[in-house]
Amino acid sequence: MEKKPFVTYEQMKEIVKKYPTPFHIYDEKGLRENVRNIRKAFAWNPGFHEYFAVKANPNPFLLKILQEEGCGTDCSSLTELMLSNALNFKGDDIMFSSNATPAEEYVYAKKIGAIINLDDYTHIDFLDKCAGIPETICCRYNPGGVFKMSNGIMDNPGDAKYGMTPEQIRAAYPRLKELGAKRFGMHAFLASNTLTNEYYPLLAKTMFEVAVDIKKTTGIALSFINLSGGVGIPYRPEDSANDIFAIGEGVRKAYEEILVPAGMGDVAIYTEMGRFVTGPFGALVTTAVHEKHIHKEYIGCDACAANLMRPAIYGAYHHLTVLGKEDQPCDHKYDVTGSLCENCDKFAIDRMLPKIDIGDLLYIHDTGAHGYSMGYNYNGKLRSKELLLCEDGSVKLIRRAETPKDYFATFDFCDILDKMDYDV
Ligand SMILES: *Cc1c(COP(=O)(O)O)cnc(C)c1O
Repeated sequence: MEKKPFVTYEQMKEIVKKYPTPFHIYDEKGLRENVRNIRKAFAWNPGFHEYFAVKANPNPFLLKILQEEGCGTDCSSLTELMLSNALNFKGDDIMFSSNATPAEEYVYAKKIGAIINLDDYTHIDFLDKCAGIPETICCRYNPGGVFKMSNGIMDNPGDAKYGMTPEQIRAAYPRLKELGAKRFGMHAFLASNTLTNEYYPLLAKTMFEVAVDIKKTTGIALSFINLSGGVGIPYRPEDSANDIFAIGEGVRKAYEEILVPAGMGDVAIYTEMGRFVTGPFGALVTTAVHEKHIHKEYIGCDACAANLMRPAIYGAYHHLTVLGKEDQPCDHKYDVTGSLCENCDKFAIDRMLPKIDIGDLLYIHDTGAHGYSMGYNYNGKLRSKELLLCEDGSVKLIRRAETPKDYFATFDFCDILDKMDYDV
């Protein structure tokens, strides 16, 4: 599939006049359509709810859009909970799927009425002691072993730090009931960035079977099953995109085959997608500021891994378009780099691209999830601004760029700040 920017070169030339690079830009129209399709694909389930994984993109303006489209939030930290609460996501609209959870985070989650998803059997007593067991509670499942699909091994839950073993989760529900819980859910995240319509249906089948068994052996009927995240996006042009309607239909089939005959036709399906919701609807735009000809050909740009870390830490592929040169032949081989003193700070390695000139605008695709949010301040680099391309074609600043003052702000207890010269 050809990967096309959601902004034209002409539009971008106007945008950078007002908002210099680097920045992440998001496509409101595409994002809204995508969420509507997700909800349509699961409309067969009256209780369906997508809890957007905030860690994928914690921008409040985007979270507001997702809220308008009927999403809740999935949080795994205190600040994500605070943000959700400030944006008026209420109680049942917030899932708290954390691990190695500090006590104060459980206390805060309970206070704002978020649904708590317990990562471990020992967290039952931990939560009971620090905040008390709420009426609604969820447990995270880890079947162990490897998670296989028809095209081979997808991931390795046996090596993952998350969730409870099959024995533990079966013991957890009766224990939680004893402690006062009344409404129960189950959660599992067994494979990441899956590019097959089979993942959710197979995960659902696995979880539905456990849910039926739990009902048989303990008499506890789960109220919701949370398929979590893991639905992937086509980062590479040769990848084929997931079809959310086929995925929803696959989950429906498993539901009717397993849950309905067991008298569990009222279970709500929840999801916690991050990447699939916002990933394709963001891009990092950066300017080529240097070219370097040594043992290889390098293009140095004004963004770096502080703005987008996935290529540096996972070797992840992000497609790159040289704006305005879409029709030129890709006859130059480049490493496209940022300015960190780390050799892994490369957005592309040995990438065939059109000839790049200094000043060219580079559009790095699919940064809408786990892009800005993974950013960091290594080398004292500052994080970029974020822009929203609104449905009406206008562009809005939805986060300003960090400034040196932000970077030094944690020294506000001493006099070092008095000596700082911010005049650059
Ligand atoms: C990261 C995460 C998600 C979202 O994962 P994606 O791959 O972005 O869909 C959902 N739930 C939990 C608990 C997570 O940690």
